[in-house]
Amino acid sequence: MTHGDVVAAARAVADRVSGRTRVAVWATPSPETVLAVVGALAAGVAVVPLNPKVGSRELAHILADSAPELLLHAPGDTPEVELPKHAVDTAARVHGEPLPEPDPESVAFVVYTSGTTGPPKGVLLPRRAVATNLDALAEIWSWTAEDVLVHGLPLFHVHGLIVGVLGPLRRGGALRHLGRFSSAAVGAAFDTGATLMFGVPTMYHRLGLDCAEDPALAAAVGRARLLVSGSAALPATDHARITESTGQRVVERYGMTETLMNCGVRADGERRPGIVGPALPGVEVRLADVADGMGELEVRGPNLFLGYLNRPDATEAAFADGWFRTGDMAVQEPDGAFRIVGRRATDLIKSGGYKIGAGEIENALLEHPAVAEAAVTAEPDDDLGERIVAWVVPTGEPPSPDELADHVAALLAPHKRPRVVHFLDALPRNDMGKVTKRALRA
Ligand code: ATP
Ligand code: MG
Repeated sequence: MTHGDVVAAARAVADRVSGRTRVAVWATPSPETVLAVVGALAAGVAVVPLNPKVGSRELAHILADSAPELLLHAPGDTPEVELPKHAVDTAARVHGEPLPEPDPESVAFVVYTSGTTGPPKGVLLPRRAVATNLDALAEIWSWTAEDVLVHGLPLFHVHGLIVGVLGPLRRGGALRHLGRFSSAAVGAAFDTGATLMFGVPTMYHRLGLDCAEDPALAAAVGRARLLVSGSAALPATDHARITESTGQRVVERYGMTETLMNCGVRADGERRPGIVGPALPGVEVRLADVADGMGELEVRGPNLFLGYLNRPDATEAAFADGWFRTGDMAVQEPDGAFRIVGRRATDLIKSGGYKIGAGEIENALLEHPAVAEAAVTAEPDDDLGERIVAWVVPTGEPPSPDELADHVAALLAPHKRPRVVHFLDALPRNDMGKVTKRALRA
């Protein structure tokens, strides 16, 4: 579709939804999802993107919480849901009437968090946050109308929908959504003019393994202008594998539903594995309560959300003096860039008087040839306070727990040695490919 096609089709949607407050979109990876979202935004109506794979209990929670007046979906994807009752008149606007002038502080989206740490919360995102954040990303990545973005991310989170769909539209550039991610489809896109890719770590993991085996794929990916990873930490082994086969150095950015993107490595900046870059232009990021060089990231700026829907308690708890407390721990490098240590609640282990980041141990485990995937948690320990627990998906025959623990201690330090090692067939992950440590511990 051309930009003109999108405008015309979205305009028809805008006429149908205008006058409503909030509509839900059954966010399958389809052109209809894009048109529904753009149409609703054009009419000044807030969009609640829904994960089409969401379970019935979570869907019921989201629908009751967000109370959308309409549910928009592609013709083939009729969802089986019941909307809360609303007395709305169904008359559409007269086509061609001017659309309302949007208020920058009005709600553009109600996006539910990934639910990694608890039940998903509805995040109220104003138009101002969306617009300023996309412009800041354009600045650091030199993103223009010439760019063709390829991605296979879901369209119900800020990464895939706001950055990945509205980003190219705002730049006047193109988007190629893969429908479903595959390395072959990514290679084909870069062979035919794509310049940028956005992905989550699980995608770059797959792409790295496939590029190592397929020189033609590696050459295609090597032609990319920029590969961007986010939503979770990209392990050092995945960075290295991609660089080795394609020559590309993946750039990381750090963000969350509540704040959109906070930090990002510039296209012309120094690319170091594990570094998510400095604060974006216009965004303030600081570390609070720093101890041992590590502190909690706090954020202030035009990218911030308005609050959680129906959760004044959670909204109140999330802010301190106008700064949003991310719950993520980080270290600031001498050049101002940040290294994410992990979530304060689940990734910071207090063992034997030390504070240890789970990510560092996960990266060390992944360097062992017998380890395909790794996650690290803590459990109470009488002597140490907490002890380090490793969850490992082996590549084949599992090595002995002692061998893995020795490997970590030798690479890092004796106090970072996992005390317990569990072997699993797969790590529990949510729809964004993030490891759900709650599920692991349960
Ligand atoms: P919930 O808030 O419901 O528990 P969630 O925090 O996973 O779920 P999102 O808003 O989708 O929901 O994810 C934001 C989180 O993802 C951040 O707080 C951070 O922990 C993590 N994250 C995002 N980008 C990166 C990155 N580049 N490196 C490390 N972690 C990241
Ligand atoms: Mg969160």
